[in-house]
Amino acid sequence: MIFDPEPKESRKDFFDREEEIDKIKSLSSPITLVLGLRRTGKSSVIHITLNELNLPYIYIDLRKFEEIGYISYKDLILEIQKEINRLIKRFPNIIDFLKRIEGVKVMGNEIRLKWGGNERVNISFLLESLNDWTENKAILTIDEAQELLNLRGANLLPTFAYSFDNLKKIKIILSGSKMGLLYRYLGKDNPRSPLYGRAMNEIELNPFNKEKSVEFLKLGFKELNIIFNDFDVVYENLGGIPGWLTYFGYYYSQKRDLNEALTKTINSAIGLIREEFNNFLKIRAIARDRYLTIMKTLVNCASWSEIKRALEASTGIEISDSEIYNYLNQLIDSSWIVKKDSRKYCPSEHLISKAFS
Ligand code: ADP
Ligand code: MG
Repeated sequence: MIFDPEPKESRKDFFDREEEIDKIKSLSSPITLVLGLRRTGKSSVIHITLNELNLPYIYIDLRKFEEIGYISYKDLILEIQKEINRLIKRFPNIIDFLKRIEGVKVMGNEIRLKWGGNERVNISFLLESLNDWTENKAILTIDEAQELLNLRGANLLPTFAYSFDNLKKIKIILSGSKMGLLYRYLGKDNPRSPLYGRAMNEIELNPFNKEKSVEFLKLGFKELNIIFNDFDVVYENLGGIPGWLTYFGYYYSQKRDLNEALTKTINSAIGLIREEFNNFLKIRAIARDRYLTIMKTLVNCASWSEIKRALEASTGIEISDSEIYNYLNQLIDSSWIVKKDSRKYCPSEHLISKAFS
């Protein structure tokens, strides 16, 4: 069902994005990046791809660590362990390849990975043994990979670079925000990044424009045999983020009341956005009020000097340009705001603006 509020697993429940899915499926570079704002369908296209490719894969979703604010090596290793054990159920002979690695312990039909001490397992070696094992290809997927910026006690970039250069059968798929994942974490333009200069397969999922939003709603309602015509009002109120349009379709199909469905969608969106923003503030607690002031100042877009003035007015002290630069960059990296051509800073989508007005 198009209006199912969960990430989709199959193209039959998914609208459009054919080219994007095919491009991911091509695995044309050792590393594929699926970039986009929250709720544009990144997890869905990844699940659909993995289902269609039918290759052995490891899928790790870092979304849940957003709430805690950081990821420990232990957290990451335990996620990988769970996924490898799932693979072993299907392909028991993986164990023969893994058992030679330091930090891997075989316990019957399962493995345990050591995450601490000096014999802790090295993820590069895990990938290497999967590369040796697999006949065709194997995929490592990390969903919301910009959370790796908050990984403590390890750095995966050299692992990604090693795999890129040496492990021909391992394909890596990373999803996340364009600024946070591609520029800040992977350091696309940074000559000091281990991945500098590597050409990656980049797929960007943009929000729908008005035409696509209407088509999406039409298809969803058609599938449910519901007659609906108020497309303009929906787009004006929600914008083109597929996730919000999906919620709307879902609520509308329950009670068939336009205003009620819009209100419900907007309220739950604002609730979610505020909760996610609080997660963002958790590891930035000392600057909490400053970030809130910035978001309130730019609900209808604002220039650098307007933001500076608002910050100084609310704190009563002078705030340096480098501090402001840092706050704005952090907001851009986590895709709360975007910098427009007009040199103004704006909320990255309509409902983010609403959540702070
Ligand atoms: P992301 O991982 O980018 O946050 P999701 O894949 O979780 O996005 O999608 C958010 C919501 O929107 C889910 O309910 C998903 O089913 C729905 N959705 C996104 N894009 C589409 C689409 N093209 N067709 C149908 N549903 C979609
Ligand atoms: Mg997702």
